[in-house]
Amino acid sequence: MKRPPFPAWLRAHPSDRRGSLWLALVLLVAGLLVMLVWLAGRYEISQVQERLERDTADAVSDIRSALTRNVQALQSLYAGSPTPGSWSVDAASMLHEHREWSRLEWRDPGLALLAGVDSPFRAPVFDRMGRDNARADIAQACLTARKYNGPAYSASYFVPQSDGLGMEVMEMCMPLVTAGRLSGYVVATYSLQGILSEMIGQAYTRSQEVSFTEADGTRLALHGSVRRGNRVFTAQQLLDLPGNTLVLRMDGWRSAPDLFPNVLTALVTAMSIALVSVLVLLRNDMRRRQKAERDLADALAFRKAMEDSLVTGLRARDLQGRTTYVNPAFCEMVGFSAGELLGRGSPAPYWPPELADEYQQRQAIRLEHNHAPAREGFESVFMRKDGRRFPVLIIEAPLINVLGRQTGWMSALLDISEQRRVEELQRASQERLQATARLATVGEMASLLSHELNQPLAAIASYATGSLNLLQDTAPGLEPGLAKGSDLQLALRRIAEQAERAGKVIRSVHDFVRRRDQLREEVSPNALLNDIMPLVSLQARKLQVRVRVEVDDGLPDVLCDRIMVEQVLLNLARNAMQAMDLPDLRDRPLEFRVRRAASAEGNRWLEFSVADGGAGIPGDVARQLFTPFFTTKTEGMGLGLSLCRTVVEQHGGYLDFVPNTPSGTVFRFTLPAVANRKAKVPSIE
Ligand code: ADP
Repeated sequence: MKRPPFPAWLRAHPSDRRGSLWLALVLLVAGLLVMLVWLAGRYEISQVQERLERDTADAVSDIRSALTRNVQALQSLYAGSPTPGSWSVDAASMLHEHREWSRLEWRDPGLALLAGVDSPFRAPVFDRMGRDNARADIAQACLTARKYNGPAYSASYFVPQSDGLGMEVMEMCMPLVTAGRLSGYVVATYSLQGILSEMIGQAYTRSQEVSFTEADGTRLALHGSVRRGNRVFTAQQLLDLPGNTLVLRMDGWRSAPDLFPNVLTALVTAMSIALVSVLVLLRNDMRRRQKAERDLADALAFRKAMEDSLVTGLRARDLQGRTTYVNPAFCEMVGFSAGELLGRGSPAPYWPPELADEYQQRQAIRLEHNHAPAREGFESVFMRKDGRRFPVLIIEAPLINVLGRQTGWMSALLDISEQRRVEELQRASQERLQATARLATVGEMASLLSHELNQPLAAIASYATGSLNLLQDTAPGLEPGLAKGSDLQLALRRIAEQAERAGKVIRSVHDFVRRRDQLREEVSPNALLNDIMPLVSLQARKLQVRVRVEVDDGLPDVLCDRIMVEQVLLNLARNAMQAMDLPDLRDRPLEFRVRRAASAEGNRWLEFSVADGGAGIPGDVARQLFTPFFTTKTEGMGLGLSLCRTVVEQHGGYLDFVPNTPSGTVFRFTLPAVANRKAKVPSIE
């Protein structure tokens, strides 16, 4: 088969493929989560940066407007044509309000100092350096101021202080114009540090560091909080003043490197953890499912293999009698395919039409009463697709689902036609065997018969000769008629008696040999014994055996196959007599006894026993006694006892033997009695 061109990883074994898919999913989710956290962090950082930029811009505009206000304040010093003295007073008071100023000066148009006041908040700035060193800066600022005709600023410069430190200052020069003419300058020395601390809102400097820097980043003045954290954010903004441009820089810190910088990131992270947990749970669940799936598949495969290899037919029906399942063995048994059987209600296609009504009723009763048939099953007859009937053994049980509710019936079916055939064969061969055994017995008895019939026949012959003689006798002195008549009568009666006896012997042999099907009839124990007595007596007389019969009073009839039971009695009697055929044995008793069986069910069984006074049965013989063809006699067939036992067991009884006292053996067997019936029923022969 040509495989579709899937990529290699898809063509792989399903479990490998599932593994790669899982790996891909985990990697994707992990990548997504890392990116989310990173983006959230980035977003927050950008927020911080943006705020800082905004703050810087605001700070710059704060400074610019403050500078403008300061210019206006300085202009107000010249409102009422001041003298240097009055100016100094005003300027000093103004310096009280403006800490950013270090010094205020009034200079004439030639830049000569008219008046100057230092800030009261610190020592005079130029004490150490000398004010003259700043001239160049002042001149430059004032030059620019004149050019713009407005306030202008000098470049900032460093002024060392007497305390060893120093400060960065910047000059502001504003031309004073009176009636269109330059009348002088007012010069304000700004401390850059002062500008930062006084002109920018507290809010900016509380959490950030504000500084003026040069273009190369050198800090000129610094104001603000101490460093907190190690993550620095920086924003710069130009403060463009006439004559000078300053760079305002703000530095902000983040307190920690912050894996979870804010709520958003924390939220994303928590959700990520939840997602990963769900993923793990999902994977565990998936594993459990896969295992369950595998187990289920195994169990299913096992069940299928088992059902397919079963020789027992299986059939399930729902509560409406519709077939819901059949296994291959069942299909094979009835010859219908599963498709033809599934979903079919009654009558089922494998029911013989002539029995369908009966089966239908049986099923209706089962469904209605919902009771299970006997566990050992029942026999029924089914029909193959080709119409042949066959016997089946059906064992049915209720089908219970997982909720414990009955959903139908499950049946196991066995085709017992083969079993029936074997049984039939066995029965036939057993019958043949029995016939053979009977014939063997007959052969044996034929010699006895010839011997025994000799007696009556010889008697008949002599009586006949005697009669003939009497008829011919013409002896003188006698009244022939009288003597002849009474003797003849006697002789003829004897002849008749002997002939009848001979006939009885022959009839019993005939009856015995005639092969008959099993027929149960009610027979009294006496009748059974009487029937065999002539044959027994024949042999008994020959072997000088004393026969005794003892039948308890009031015994019921037995229900049996008369001829077969007689054969059993004959066999046992014959064995007994042969056992006593020992040269030096004087007393040879043969005793028949019939009584109620000694079992708990004594009322229902009669026990027949045949006892002899022979040598008994040695152990090794006893073990094989009932084995067919086992015999210790040269002319024996070894079938007698095994047949006897079969016959007795067919009647439901048992056959066994015990030693007799003082010597010999007692063979006993039981037969079922007719319940509560003592009256003799005429035999149906
Ligand atoms: P057969 O009489 O043809 O030998 P049986 O099956 O009737 O076959 O008996 C089997 C054997 O059991 C006999 O050969 C004999 O040895 C022994 N047997 C049977 N009945 C008696 C008995 N009453 N006493 C001693 N031995 C017996």
